[in-house]
Amino acid sequence: MIDIASPLRLRLDSAALVSNWRWLAAQGGKACGAAIKANGYGLGAREVMRHLAAAGCRDFFVANWSEAAALMPLPDDVALSVLHGVGASDMVAARTLPARPVLCSVEQVRRWREGGEGRPCDVMVDTGMNRLGLRPEEAASGALEGLAIETLLSHLASADEDSEQNARQLAAFRAVCAQVPARRYSLANSAGICLGPDYGFDLTRPGLALYGGIPRASADGHIRQVAYPEARIIQRRVARAGETVGYGATWTAQRDTPVVIANMGYADGYLRCHAGIGGATREGQALPLIGRVSMDLTAFDASGAPDAAEGDWLTIDYDLPSVAAQSGLSQYELLTGLGARFARVWE
Ligand SMILES: *Cc1c(COP(=O)(O)O)cnc(C)c1O
Repeated sequence: MIDIASPLRLRLDSAALVSNWRWLAAQGGKACGAAIKANGYGLGAREVMRHLAAAGCRDFFVANWSEAAALMPLPDDVALSVLHGVGASDMVAARTLPARPVLCSVEQVRRWREGGEGRPCDVMVDTGMNRLGLRPEEAASGALEGLAIETLLSHLASADEDSEQNARQLAAFRAVCAQVPARRYSLANSAGICLGPDYGFDLTRPGLALYGGIPRASADGHIRQVAYPEARIIQRRVARAGETVGYGATWTAQRDTPVVIANMGYADGYLRCHAGIGGATREGQALPLIGRVSMDLTAFDASGAPDAAEGDWLTIDYDLPSVAAQSGLSQYELLTGLGARFARVWE
């Protein structure tokens, strides 16, 4: 096969990933796992798992069984949990793969009792999210008796806000822990970790902050950017004074303006909401985005980058908290939306 280099790459900083995990692990909780669902938030679940397992992370979480299957074989001494539990069509995978379901309803508990061959499981209890999980009264009613529960989980709905719901969920979770025996208890995602050590329990489950997202202000200065989208310049041209650039002619050159066209567009997850706010850099020089984002192309004003030329790489502005604030997309969407045309390049 001919090796054709992609004109789009996602540069990934493994040292930053590991540094973020270590910082999160130090904030509370006896152990710190990693949520690697949605292909490791778009960065590449297998590589994320490999780097974090080498750093000492032992507990990983994906959403469904096809994600679990794609991660086989697992590194040594690593446990994988499947957050969506077991639907009727998941039982073959759940019996075959070395991963645990996180049972999410009385129905799933029944299914696992009947078909799980006594294998260990995790259980999700709902303490206020009303998404997945047994209600506390269901969990305490004997429905779970006799199950080999490895980890009992709950999930915080508003941990990234100063909401009274956090303390309410913490109290509700403590009450569940007192009633339901499990080997370990786990409550906090990235933002939950930042609420303080009370939320840590035996195991924390960060996702976003591992990948450079800032879940709460207290993480600022500790969490490092991991993912750097980069796109090649296809051509450099001059938009003459009075001419417009791109679909809809939304940008007009006030003077003769050097423009570079980069090999990236909304089909790569670089959505049209970046128009007017987006930018890129080349060797420290800033190139503001101009006009609309096209499917495969984006134009940048190269007035401040006189040497930017065809074939050069642009580093797209992707500081998650500030791009999220400006674009209206969440930090989660900014990561998970990055498309398949980016070559994931770990350094
Ligand atoms: C996605 C997820 C996490 C990780 O959440 P972040 O906000 O990305 O840290 C933890 N627990 C559960 C149940 C999840 O679904």
